[in-house]
Amino acid sequence: MADLGDLQSLTSSITAVTSPFRNYLNDLHAKYQSLNDGAVADYIPELALAKPEWFGICVVTAEGQVFEVGNCDQLFTIQSISKAFVFGLALEDHGRDYVNSKVSVEPTGEAFNAIVLDEVTNRPYNPMVNAGAIATADLIKGHSSTERLKRVLAMFQRYTGREHDINVPVFLSEKATGFRNRAMAYLMLNFGMISDRIDETLDLYFQQCSIMVNARDLAMLSATLANGGVNPVTQERAIDEHHVQDVISVMLTCGMYDASGEWCYRVGMPAKSGVGGGITAVVPGQLGIGTFSPPLDAKGNSYRGIKVCEDLAKDFGLHVFNAAKPERDINEWIAGGNDLNDW
Ligand code: GLN
Repeated sequence: MADLGDLQSLTSSITAVTSPFRNYLNDLHAKYQSLNDGAVADYIPELALAKPEWFGICVVTAEGQVFEVGNCDQLFTIQSISKAFVFGLALEDHGRDYVNSKVSVEPTGEAFNAIVLDEVTNRPYNPMVNAGAIATADLIKGHSSTERLKRVLAMFQRYTGREHDINVPVFLSEKATGFRNRAMAYLMLNFGMISDRIDETLDLYFQQCSIMVNARDLAMLSATLANGGVNPVTQERAIDEHHVQDVISVMLTCGMYDASGEWCYRVGMPAKSGVGGGITAVVPGQLGIGTFSPPLDAKGNSYRGIKVCEDLAKDFGLHVFNAAKPERDINEWIAGGNDLNDW
């Protein structure tokens, strides 16, 4: 079993071209590197510093093979991708019924920062939009704000196999300018949907969005879900197996904001995106994909990341509802790849 501390260096040292899938990924990267559509998020100055040409793709199989190309070491803030995983932690803390009494699981069809609650129950629509994510952050247990943050960071470490830091300037900027999120929190407090520790909960939400990850971490996050909640490299359990299905389902219906329907139709992988330029996508039982490319489309999803997932789904028949024989058999293409467990 790979030691946690060694994971970064182990995965960084993989350079050999040993399987056709690695060549495929190289070609895919080259194909979309020149795509210049989209714009880097600039609602806070720190995010605008991202270089539009940064582009990394990483695929981790449920057996722990790692394939990567491009900027897979470049750190960026996880942003909304955190929402899916914090939802998982809330489920572990309180169980499905209680969490569902505070946050629904319906897609909104509206932008991620829409100020909208269910008119009958006053619940935010789902944990993947900001209102629902703030309500979810409120549910994270801990005796102090430090303990709650530590629990969130420890959870991410279980998924990725390495320690994560907060990007403090991003956190402080989000906190200083997040009036809309603050307004949503107060609206939910008004309806009794969240507790009155508003500042603490908003801090936790802004901090979870400011956690620094790279494309490899994003692939590990989804590979862990694909593998039933156990990191396929470290073999550490990150989330109770009973909640994996809950998290993945909401990723499929709500993970790509108001583009979730289109995404499900075209790509068909439960996924979550963030305005930092990351996408994490799950092929249950098979693999996890992490992409990083900062330019976003109008709905806030990474332009190149969408293209990469679309191609992977089409070329290898990875759409969750695919019933046709795929053009390429993923198992044949990954054969001969590096298996970290053998290192
Ligand atoms: N921190 C961002 C916000 O709350 C996260 C948004 C996102 O990635 N879509 O607005």
